[in-house]
Amino acid sequence: MTIPRKSDVVVIGGGVIGTSIAFNLARMGAGKVVLLERRQLASGSTGLSSGLVRMHYDNPLEGNFAFKSLETFQHFDEIVGGDCGFARTGFLRTVKPHNLEELKANVTMLQSIGVNTRLVTRDEIRVLERLCTRIPAMETGTIRRGHAGINDHTPDKHALLGPAPGIEGFYCAIGFSRHGFKEAPVVGQAMAELILNGRAEIVDITPLRLTRFEEGQPYHGPYPYHD
Ligand SMILES: Cc1cc2nc3c(=O)[nH]c(=O)nc-3n(C[C@H](O)[C@H](O)[C@H](O)COP(=O)(O)OP(=O)(O)OC[C@H]3O[C@@H](n4cnc5c(N)ncnc54)[C@H](O)[C@@H]3O)c2cc1C
Repeated sequence: MTIPRKSDVVVIGGGVIGTSIAFNLARMGAGKVVLLERRQLASGSTGLSSGLVRMHYDNPLEGNFAFKSLETFQHFDEIVGGDCGFARTGFLRTVKPHNLEELKANVTMLQSIGVNTRLVTRDEIRVLERLCTRIPAMETGTIRRGHAGINDHTPDKHALLGPAPGIEGFYCAIGFSRHGFKEAPVVGQAMAELILNGRAEIVDITPLRLTRFEEGQPYHGPYPYHD
């Protein structure tokens, strides 16, 4: 394949993050956008992802990433084109008893973002569990296969987003750990806004700047769960 000799923006990496950034740059009129992938699209973590699009987070930044990205999965054909295979399921998050107050605070925080979530009681969970065991396929179900990939943790377990210090015109969107798939639509838009306009409008991503560790400001939500 011939690589174009000139472009306005080059995106390196054809996973869900790089493709979303390239898509948003093109959509926002960035000019000629070239996406470079050393193997095949989605041949990294993206192709191994379970594709779980959950909304429960213990910090408002990722709550916003997930919630605002949901619209793209729900209306993929109109926004991007084609069928992304999104199926709405529901999600149950349990925490240890000593995290109850944090759970309550996080549910309130997520509701304020717009996430359709609520606290359920132990009795409601028991009813759900009983219903599940009555589904014959679940009683006899076995694990058929598994797969594994790299979990790219940063010290605070959040991504690195923003300009690389000291390298003009070079931006990073890396280190998404287990969250990148569901966050990609908004991360792509935020990065495109940052690159083209100097500032991400859809979500303020400055808490995830590359310099936060040397500044002694790792990112944590106000109510983290303690294991
Ligand atoms: C087993 C597993 C399950 C997961 N489940 C979920 C989930 O349920 N929900 C969720 O939201 N997230 C999940 N994740 C996390 C999610 O998959 C990742 O956060 C996301 O795919 C990261 O996307 P990426 O584009 O940053 O990286 P990648 O998908 O790894 O893409 C990087 C790409 O860059 C290319 N590349 C690297 N170097 C170069 C180079 N020098 N030149 C050109 N190309 C290069 C690679 O070939 C690769 O294609 C899971 C991850 C794993 C491993």
